[in-house]
Amino acid sequence: MDHNEFRRLGHQLVDWIADYRARLGELPVMSPAEPGAIRARFPVEPPVEGGRLAEAVARLDELILPGITHWNHPAFFAYFPSNTSLASVLGDLACAGLGAQGMSWQTSPAATEVEQVVMDWLRRMVGLPETFQGVVQDSASTSTLTALLCARERTAGFAQEGAGLQDGGAPMTVYASAQAHSSVEKAALLAGFGRAHVRHVGVDASFALRPELLEAAIAEDLAAGRRPCAVVACTGTTATTALDPIAAVAEIAERHRLWLHVDAALAGTAMILPECRWMWAGVERADSVVWNPHKWMGIGFDFSAFHVRDPGHLGRVMSTNPSYLRTAQDGRVVNFRDWGIPLGRRFRALKAWFHLVDEGVLAMQARIRRDLENARWLAEEVDRADGWERLAPVPLQTVCLRHVPSGERDEGRLGAHNLEIAGRVNRSGRAYVTPSLLEGKQMIRVSIGATATERRDVEGVWAALGAAADARA
Ligand SMILES: *Cc1c(COP(=O)(O)O)cnc(C)c1O
Repeated sequence: MDHNEFRRLGHQLVDWIADYRARLGELPVMSPAEPGAIRARFPVEPPVEGGRLAEAVARLDELILPGITHWNHPAFFAYFPSNTSLASVLGDLACAGLGAQGMSWQTSPAATEVEQVVMDWLRRMVGLPETFQGVVQDSASTSTLTALLCARERTAGFAQEGAGLQDGGAPMTVYASAQAHSSVEKAALLAGFGRAHVRHVGVDASFALRPELLEAAIAEDLAAGRRPCAVVACTGTTATTALDPIAAVAEIAERHRLWLHVDAALAGTAMILPECRWMWAGVERADSVVWNPHKWMGIGFDFSAFHVRDPGHLGRVMSTNPSYLRTAQDGRVVNFRDWGIPLGRRFRALKAWFHLVDEGVLAMQARIRRDLENARWLAEEVDRADGWERLAPVPLQTVCLRHVPSGERDEGRLGAHNLEIAGRVNRSGRAYVTPSLLEGKQMIRVSIGATATERRDVEGVWAALGAAADARA
């Protein structure tokens, strides 16, 4: 492809994206594709002769769209918001166009320095103090793994420089609430703690971690000669957006010298609202914090914000310093390759910069407040409606509900009934919700926060749920 053809196809593709976003609301939210249906339309053999990109671009509608679930759709209420603003799309295009590696300052100084700028903007936006420094990771999963590797090495006194975890020392333990995201346990397993040393601490009626049970679990491990190492507290759990009491957890972590990592993957964005900051009061005492601007904020995936209080420790755990990567400026600059797992790094700060200058803090705050109000509205509707039950508090944008036909007590039948309701809504293409289990109860999660979602769309999913509950099988 030469530059002229790139210009032509590039303009065509930008038009296609603009058209797609403009008519998004008319498409079925959840992809109706059957397993294997998309793959079956591609040839088995790779293209031998080139020159057919124009044809591929022209076939996006026909080949790809039927297999897309539309996360930016106004009636997307599944999983969590994963907004990709159009400004962020342009930032990713600029990043790809530059095609630069940002592993070291010298490999593209702008990549490092703009990342420092946007990470500092984001830190200020969510109210984290200057004692934190930030770096972009691809996901909260990677950030949490990085945090637990830091924790492990702090407790083990840099055992990685010697026998690692294989010196026969006392086992190290990790704590998180029973409602913590699966990425926490995965990170603990990958970091070598072992499933037997991950403690799932019990929760209260609001599904938040109970500090006295954390304290008891630590005491039990200490009595057995184990080494308590890290605790992950969550601001906004995945199932119900429960809020672990960060200050109480921090107090325990400090007393027992545990690494405190705060997972606010979804909820971090809400911290741009001063009235939400109480939700993670005490966060300044954490060793590390992760939140995902690639969820609710609108910076497209993959952009996870990881803030640490001691970048020197992070660098000591993560750095590799072979001679071919050393540069004359090393004493004066930051080399982000030493702040995470991969060596190679995309210029992801570009899409953050584009998104932030395009939307601005004020409009973003108004949008998040709109979403919180929409969730409160739906919660009140559920509370008022006969036959509907709300299963958890609604501090943020997720409403957990289920339909309970009068007289029905059997959990098995209730579960099947609610699965059928969610299935009906999702198959209709009019809205997309997530059926999920909460302490054994089948519920339906309505997660609000797509940028395009207005009150009428929330009214729409509520009406669709009602119709699906009334429909006879
Ligand atoms: C979404 C989510 C994660 C996982 O985020 P990834 O960036 O996909 O790894 C972890 N924790 C919580 C609380 C989440 O909401």
